[in-house]
This record gives sequence, C-alpha cells and structure tokens, in this order.
Amino acid sequence: MLDQIRDLYQEVVFDHNRNPRNFRVMADANRTIEGFNPLCGDRITLYAKVIHGIIEDVSFQGAGCAISTASASLMTEIVKGQTEAEAEKLFETFHRMTTGKNGDDINLEEIGKLAVLSGVRAYPARVKCATLAWHSLQAALKNEGHSISTE
Ligand code: ZN
Repeated sequence: MLDQIRDLYQEVVFDHNRNPRNFRVMADANRTIEGFNPLCGDRITLYAKVIHGIIEDVSFQGAGCAISTASASLMTEIVKGQTEAEAEKLFETFHRMTTGKNGDDINLEEIGKLAVLSGVRAYPARVKCATLAWHSLQAALKNEGHSISTE
C-alpha cells in the first residue's frame, strides 16, 4: 500500500515535470519575480496577476530540476483563484510538510495534491528545490523587489 502511494506520488511529479502547468510568460502580470536556488541551479520567473487581494492568475517560466519544476507547476494550479492570505497559509503548511518540522498535524485535505512532494523531507538538499516557487510567490505577493535567492 505504501509503495503504491509512493509510486503514485512519483508519477504525479514526473507528469508535472514533463508537462508543467501554467508554464508561460504572462504579458499582463502585475507581479514578476526572478527566483534562484544556487544549491541546485534552479531558476524560475514567476508571474502573478493580483487584483484586490486575489491571485487571479499565476504562471512561471524557467529551468530547473524535476522537483523544482513539478513544485512550481503544482503550486500554480493550487493557488490560482486563492486570496493572498490563503496562499500564505498554504505556503506555511507546505513548508512545514517539506522540512518535517511539526509536520505531524498536516491536514492532507488542505494540502491536496501538494502531498506528492512530502517525500523531499527525507532529502534536505532538495527542500529548497521544492520551496523555490513558493518563496518566489511570497516575494511577489509582498511586492518586494524583483528577485530572490534561497541562499
Ligand atoms: Zn533543484
């Protein structure tokens, strides 16, 4: 049973890496952030259209490892249509899940498909790959600067 779940998780990550969702430049974005993870070399440009506190649209471009691409793809799917506060809360939960800190009370319904990335907690070097898109989104929502680095 556990092996089947692990296989399913891997399949979702492979799928989102091969065929990333919302992988496009957004011409009318009102927030754009360049994110960089020097540990792995992952680069992302995150685009968001935020209107009256709602993430109306979000997309990304970039080049990185399978984990960073799949995580960005999954993130854009789940936060589109959310309020800034909802996305912020989800990032906090996702961060706890991927770092394994106080991760025992994670509500799997709340985290939804993002649970497929829970396995990275066993690989501390990959946590920054999984959270790069989220750090970029957070910077975009705060509208502070034009680039972030995980280091
Ligand atoms: Zn990476």
